[in-house]
Amino acid sequence: MTHRTLNLDDSLYQYLLDVSLRETPLLKRLRDETQTLPMARWQVAPEQGQFLALLVKLTGARRLLEVGTFTGYSALCMAAALPDDGSLICCDIPGDYNAIARRYWEEAGLAGRIELHLAPALQTLAQLSGPFDLIFIDADKANYPNYLEHALRLLRVGGLAIFDNTLWSGRVLESNPESEDTRAIQTLNRALKDDERVDLSLLPVGDGLTLCRKR
Ligand code: CA
Repeated sequence: MTHRTLNLDDSLYQYLLDVSLRETPLLKRLRDETQTLPMARWQVAPEQGQFLALLVKLTGARRLLEVGTFTGYSALCMAAALPDDGSLICCDIPGDYNAIARRYWEEAGLAGRIELHLAPALQTLAQLSGPFDLIFIDADKANYPNYLEHALRLLRVGGLAIFDNTLWSGRVLESNPESEDTRAIQTLNRALKDDERVDLSLLPVGDGLTLCRKR
């Protein structure tokens, strides 16, 4: 299962999807195929993909970066929202699922806009230079504080960094978490509250989506 939008009961969540989700048959097929994988929960919820696409259009973003791509659902949503001359750089580690992402990007006719870098994201990020307009971060949670620093270096002023899973199915409420991932998300959330470098909003969309606009 994916991390569906929090705090909605099943019937209200279904209603939200019924009246607002405009998922293409290709995206639906990708989501269904991903559901058969052991790491299916890594996939963004469909309403999140649609929201990311809307953010790309709202901000007029042309240069996008994604950290954590998995089977390529969010990348496909964002790439489709780009203007013709837009581009998306994706970072992920090598895995069987890379081929699924590439196959769907090809089928959508969007593979030419997307460049997939297969290496630990911190390595790839260190080699990239900006400016990017929008960065979506949904990779290993333990590195979220590090990804924030890279995002602030790589974003243009006014650009947007978006972190997924910042409510972490409620585990952010744990007082002494054993999980390094949980501690890192807590650290990021606390630090962002007072970070003067960004404007901030944490939305309970999906599993928590934090929007940071670089000042
Ligand atoms: Ca996620």
